[in-house]
Amino acid sequence: MDRVRHRPRGWVRHYARVLAPAGAPAGRVALERDGEQRLRRLADAAADRARQRLARTRPSMRALTALPGGRLCWRSVPVPPPPGPDGAIVHPIAVATCDMDPLIALGSSPFPLPLHLGHESVAEVLTVGERVAGVRPGERVIVPFQISCGRCPPCRSGRTGNCAGVPPISMYGFGVAGGHWGGAYSDQLAVPYADAMLVPLPDGVDPVVAASVADNVCDGYRHVAPHLPGLLERDPEAEVLIVGSVRRRSLYGASVPLYAGLVAKALGARNVRFADSRPPVRAQAERLGLDVMHPQELRRRAPAPLVVDVSGSPAGQRTALSNVAPDGVCSSAGGLHRTTRIPASLLYGRNATFHVGRTHVRTLIPQVLDLMVQMRLRPEAVTTTVARLDEAPGVLREHYVGGGIKAILTE
Ligand SMILES: [Zn+2]
Ligand SMILES: [Zn+2]
Repeated sequence: MDRVRHRPRGWVRHYARVLAPAGAPAGRVALERDGEQRLRRLADAAADRARQRLARTRPSMRALTALPGGRLCWRSVPVPPPPGPDGAIVHPIAVATCDMDPLIALGSSPFPLPLHLGHESVAEVLTVGERVAGVRPGERVIVPFQISCGRCPPCRSGRTGNCAGVPPISMYGFGVAGGHWGGAYSDQLAVPYADAMLVPLPDGVDPVVAASVADNVCDGYRHVAPHLPGLLERDPEAEVLIVGSVRRRSLYGASVPLYAGLVAKALGARNVRFADSRPPVRAQAERLGLDVMHPQELRRRAPAPLVVDVSGSPAGQRTALSNVAPDGVCSSAGGLHRTTRIPASLLYGRNATFHVGRTHVRTLIPQVLDLMVQMRLRPEAVTTTVARLDEAPGVLREHYVGGGIKAILTE
């Protein structure tokens, strides 16, 4: 199969990316609320690292570190400090790649390297704080990639991705930009709000199958689940259009568009169109039973009432928006591009709704697990690689450089 291979950025090109104007929004959003809390947290983490380097008082563990040049290696770091009263320490047993990881690991994102990689995991609980009642040591849990407190007004209304108890975009696996919470490819991970965040893995669900529920499976779900029931009630034949990459060469993984397609079918959509420029991704989508096409073929097709944009590019977003039917919805995952042109008068004329943003993952995890327990959704159909965590550096590097779709690493 004619696969493209990606070239990692070295130190100079990586830092040119981090410091470019396009990189500024990540820093601005990260600091626009509770900036002081975030800076204090980063300063405390730096001081702790310096102290532990001088005289290590805590045991060591391994943590997968991504460096410029596409280098991945295990580094020895201190285990997290004991959890606070509401926290837990967990041990990841199955970790999935996120579609964003290739950009981070190959130095093409605005998130500065080096960092500890990984934010989708199923883990075993090791210890819990004295106020934790919902999970106990030994239990297997999904660890949402976003940090949320469960108590603030956004959390209580289900908008856990905008938790007001922690600085904006607090998440695992994004290094300093995500608030320095550590990465899931490590022996231990600190969870600050165990009862609010951790979701017990249902009996009979394999951790390898569920690892990506911590982010990408829910990300596919949120683009279709809120809109589909009403849409199918009005028209059982209504089409869902999923727009993946409109370029042959895209660093984004392709699991979210495929999960969106699987969820749409699980929720009863009969017509799910899937447009992507990458031949291996189209082949995978075809195996999943989706109606597959090249994005150029969309010009000859009627617009769809529900369009999902997971292209990660301005051109893909425009393609998605141009294909929204009258009174339709375009749900977009956005991307790392700073600005884009949108066909405003077309959208006005068609009376379309455009939503772009991040997922509120913690709220969606139970809904997605329900579909899996009922055997209506099988995320494992998207997985292309399963390997041992010990082999993570080599397996993940090849996955990122070779444009793999979804890798799960397990014990
Ligand atoms: Zn992710
Ligand atoms: Zn909160």
